[in-house]
Amino acid sequence: MNKYKNPISIFHDLKMIKPPSPYWPESANVYVFEDEDGISLFDVGCGSMASADRLFSALKILGWKSKSIKKIILSHAHPDHMGAIEILLSEASPESVILHERELPYALDPERLVFSFDIPLCEKRLTAVSGQDLEGGKGPDFDLSAFFRAYGCSMCHVEPDKTVTEGDSIQVSDYHFEVFHTPGHSPGHISLYDPHKRILLAGDILGDVVAWYTPSSGGAAGYLGSLEKTDTLDMDLILPSHGDIITDSKKAVQKTMDKILEKDRAIMEALQTGPKTFEELIKIFFDTPSIQFFPGTPILESHLQKLKSEGKIKENTHTSKIYCMR
Ligand SMILES: [Zn+2]
Ligand SMILES: [Zn+2]
Repeated sequence: MNKYKNPISIFHDLKMIKPPSPYWPESANVYVFEDEDGISLFDVGCGSMASADRLFSALKILGWKSKSIKKIILSHAHPDHMGAIEILLSEASPESVILHERELPYALDPERLVFSFDIPLCEKRLTAVSGQDLEGGKGPDFDLSAFFRAYGCSMCHVEPDKTVTEGDSIQVSDYHFEVFHTPGHSPGHISLYDPHKRILLAGDILGDVVAWYTPSSGGAAGYLGSLEKTDTLDMDLILPSHGDIITDSKKAVQKTMDKILEKDRAIMEALQTGPKTFEELIKIFFDTPSIQFFPGTPILESHLQKLKSEGKIKENTHTSKIYCMR
């Protein structure tokens, strides 16, 4: 049961539009910044009718039309964050659509998401799972775009007017945001920090769920680096893309770090009992063949790369077994 009513007021000029659940394939939270002559959005949500209707009716309650949209900032180019942009741009002509320069290839050509999702790696490692078509069409010849469509959260393409990088600033109504590049979950993921308002728009890196990560998106090491960056910030509120507003920022950052580091520890523990292949390891950490395929494969690969670079594990090239360094 939903006990909230959209739009949710955070400040008099900042509202949140929340989906019924924080989990895929539901939409990401949409944040709406208001000033006298228009609104700006941080993410726009899924391109499903339900999600677009939720956005339009919340804007209507606030007294705005989609024509009033001045700026759209995208945390990253994933369908639950930017799928609705095609629908919005058919009605609105914002002065700018902004995302990180490293997300540009995926926004321009969503078919390229297979690379940041590391789907070729999942297919290569497929012998680790059952080898047949799995839930959601996962398996050989997996079609990521069709997967998004099947779950009602299609990806679309957009040509942003402006790209940003770490250290840039973005002004949205009365908010002065510093751009933080926070990879791990996607190569050009950004989080926005306003030191005066003491808020962080975290995107997917903090929230009700720990986002999956892939080597091509920055991996476990990149994700941890992103969390370390946010840990240094003075803030009262974290506004995540999935789930409720967070008031204890230190605790949230620590909890997310712990969950990621816990996997490192668990892999080391599993290897203490003897060398193991990737196939053996993935079955220990991920239950179903579908999850083993994605996101299990890129998550495990991310940790193995991290542990190898730290000199804690090695792979025997003849047996393909991974073993601990003593
Ligand atoms: Zn995402
Ligand atoms: Zn997301």
